[in-house]
Amino acid sequence: MVRAIVGANWGDEGKGKIVDMLGEKSDYIVRFQGGSNAGHTIVNDYGKFALHILPSGAFYQHTTCVIGNGVALNIPDLIKEIDGIVGKGVPKPNVVVSDRAQVMMPYHIDFDTYEEARLAGKSFGSTKSGIAPFYSDKYSKIGFQVSELFDDEILEEKVERIAGIKNVTLENLYNAPKIDPKELLNTLHEYRDMIAPYVCDTSKLLHDAIKEGKTILLEGQLGTLKDPDFGIYPMVTSSSTLAAYGAIGAGIPPYEIKDIITVVKAYSSAVGAGEFVSEIFGEEADELRRRGGDGGEYGATTGRPRRMGWFDAVASRYGVRMQGATEVALTVLDVLGYLDELPVCVGYEIDGVVTKDFPVTAKLKKAKPVYEVLPGWKEDIRGITEYDKLPENCRKYIEFIEKELEVPVTMVSNGPGRHEIIYRNK
Ligand code: GDP
Repeated sequence: MVRAIVGANWGDEGKGKIVDMLGEKSDYIVRFQGGSNAGHTIVNDYGKFALHILPSGAFYQHTTCVIGNGVALNIPDLIKEIDGIVGKGVPKPNVVVSDRAQVMMPYHIDFDTYEEARLAGKSFGSTKSGIAPFYSDKYSKIGFQVSELFDDEILEEKVERIAGIKNVTLENLYNAPKIDPKELLNTLHEYRDMIAPYVCDTSKLLHDAIKEGKTILLEGQLGTLKDPDFGIYPMVTSSSTLAAYGAIGAGIPPYEIKDIITVVKAYSSAVGAGEFVSEIFGEEADELRRRGGDGGEYGATTGRPRRMGWFDAVASRYGVRMQGATEVALTVLDVLGYLDELPVCVGYEIDGVVTKDFPVTAKLKKAKPVYEVLPGWKEDIRGITEYDKLPENCRKYIEFIEKELEVPVTMVSNGPGRHEIIYRNK
């Protein structure tokens, strides 16, 4: 059985916690896109961890963590992350890496940094982890596949050729130090030795696992609104964040993905620039940011304060639809207990017309939020384990959101911990 866990919003919906929770009953947990640019925060019996590239299954001995072919593989980051959790007392995780994944090169990170500096105020709000240069090179067919690290003939020729291409830009556009092919080759040899114990044909591994009836979780990074096709282009990431891409980025048949749990946050937050219709500012935003998530809404990778907003039903309904959600996990609801009233964005007014359909970016820029205001519940809901025990206004908020989403909310998360979850029947 293959399940995907993906985000409906701008990322940071709390996917990590849901994966960690469901990972308990999974045999394989697969990363299928993105790199070490975003992060999951996981609170479990070993402590609090920020994972950037390792799947959240890293804490279970019975699961195998798969870095799929769709991932931007930063080898030093992966090894550092494995060593980091082992250093904190977690048993060594079972990790396998696709021989078809491509390698994040040191110059991808440099190019990301140089380009953001060059664009200055017009930058895309990149985390400078090299993601955009990495995927550009992959599709320009000048990337390095993991398998190529093990073939010196290919490697030597390619290093010379690609250093030649990159050095033109480094010299003429960025006025930055050039790549020395010998040094790059040495680095790639180091990467090869670091990654060698983990490499295999992960698509075959997963194919066999499906045949044996194993449980597989696909773990998405970011959310629908950061997808290059369906998100707020160009303020998006460079690989697809949609469950459908899970089939490609993991190398499994699309029809095997039976369940798509889409994580929706009970309010909005976004990191980096881009359209955000229900954004709030000032003291109202500061208070939600301070109280949000687990110890405040700050980026797991960059520490940047997140932008805050009210729940956006237009964006979230679109977010779950594009994921093909079969069920929704509504998260961080506990944070909202302090509010007297909860505005919910139920429409966008664009040029005097109200729409409920999420538009393209050019129209989004003109959209003004139309709110419906729901009463608050003024109560701490952490520790509640049964849906019926939630305050009435809290249930009303959930049911209002469910109606807007048009997908059943089967899980309500009321705290960062693994067991702080309320299940509802579909
Ligand atoms: P992800 O990238 O989607 O996994 O999201 P992050 O991990 O970056 O952000 C979610 C944050 O919210 C983390 O700090 C979680 O520990 C925390 N979190 C997840 N679910 C809940 C919840 O139901 N309540 C609270 N208060 N925090 C939560």
